[in-house]
Amino acid sequence: MYLYNSATRKKQEFTTHIPGRVEMYTCGPTVYHFAHIGNLRSYIMEDVLEKFLRWDGYDVNRVMNITDVGHLSGDSDEGEDKMLLGARREHKSVMEIAQYYTDAFFADCAKLNIKTPDAVQPATGLIPEFITMVQGLLDKGYAYVAGGNVYFDTSKLTRYHIFFDHDEEDLAVGVREGVEEDQNKRNKNDFVLWFTKSKFEDQALKWDSPWGVGYPGWHIECSCISLKYNGEYLDLHCGGIDNAFPHHTNEIAQSESYLGHPWCPQWFHVHHLVTPEGKMSKSKGKALILTTLEEEGYDPLAYRFFCLQSHYRKALVFTWENLDNAQGAYHKLIARIAALAPGDGEVDQAVLQTQREKFRKAMGNDLNTSLGVTALYDALKVKANDETKLAILGDLDKVLSLSLLEKAAAKRAEDAKVKAVAATTGGITVTGEGDPAIDALVLQRAQAKKAKNFAEADRIRDELKAQGIEIADTKDGAVWKRV
Ligand SMILES: [Zn+2]
Repeated sequence: MYLYNSATRKKQEFTTHIPGRVEMYTCGPTVYHFAHIGNLRSYIMEDVLEKFLRWDGYDVNRVMNITDVGHLSGDSDEGEDKMLLGARREHKSVMEIAQYYTDAFFADCAKLNIKTPDAVQPATGLIPEFITMVQGLLDKGYAYVAGGNVYFDTSKLTRYHIFFDHDEEDLAVGVREGVEEDQNKRNKNDFVLWFTKSKFEDQALKWDSPWGVGYPGWHIECSCISLKYNGEYLDLHCGGIDNAFPHHTNEIAQSESYLGHPWCPQWFHVHHLVTPEGKMSKSKGKALILTTLEEEGYDPLAYRFFCLQSHYRKALVFTWENLDNAQGAYHKLIARIAALAPGDGEVDQAVLQTQREKFRKAMGNDLNTSLGVTALYDALKVKANDETKLAILGDLDKVLSLSLLEKAAAKRAEDAKVKAVAATTGGITVTGEGDPAIDALVLQRAQAKKAKNFAEADRIRDELKAQGIEIADTKDGAVWKRV
């Protein structure tokens, strides 16, 4: 497969340290709040990437951290601890907050068909390993103690800015408005590995260390967790584009300095979800969560479908109208699949292979998911029996995870129920969207019409119209739909 690599700024052939095996790491959520749908976009695209690699024959080991300590509200060691902010907001303990939002995150993932990684590690569960790594960096001269904290010394690196050609001054902590510069830092980009002294004395989670009682910085957890579960050579590191700096840059600094060799050659960054007003972010109070979409009547998988329709390296514009269009298209696709007849013959293996190759080519070109979705429509058009079409759709959906066959089967069963009800009511057929209460009213109207009670028939039609139901009298009977 060809994948864009943020570290080289080029699309290049995907390679692995051990042939056939992918060591994959994904930055997980900071569990102080619900993930917003922009965060979830990243996890959806990373899930598709993982599943495509597996579908393509790789053995994948995917690891994810859960940040439950050390992530400050500014990514560069300034601001307050996000977990403390959450605990204070909700009058709960930090660990209660962490558990609640970790569960909420995986519940969202389940609704979006995002697979749980092979290893999930909360940061608070690995403190002794963090301490070992920080000590190792001190021993090798890549870190220093100042004002009670341990800092990584970025002046010891030959190259610090991996992902972008930043202007040092632009990035310097302290120049941004309202941010107080940490006087202990020798260089502006240095970052904290271990805090014992910080602005907030009431840090709830503290551990003993050779440098005093304190807690780890945010970046060290990902280096350490990856080292434990992925080993010394990582093949693919994923995250949202806003993690590229400083988080990923600092992970590289720590890991390579500690290990003494190159660490991860390939970096996959998912771009932002934006609204017409700007980037979606929790701090600006404009963040939508998955539950809100559900409350507004959207299927979480319609949101997944919406994300798949665009490329992960482009900003995706979220509007309700765009989501409406995606949900409409998703439902239509399910309806077309439901109209196929399973078991109408043998699967044509040659056709299946041809479609697999087309899909492999599309997705293997920097994970072009919109062409991946197009392949689903192509499957419906191939010259083959329905069983073959269903086999292709099922195969491609192992990667896209839109529950296509399950939803189509459910719709088929629902449609059959409607037909079964209609068949037993005096030769009157009612076809609709599978709502028994509406079916019953439409049937009553048809019966009134048959008995030439037009006033009653009109009354029922008006009643349904008020509920947004439209009835068409066709040669096959009454067909209703929501408009
Ligand atoms: Zn990370």
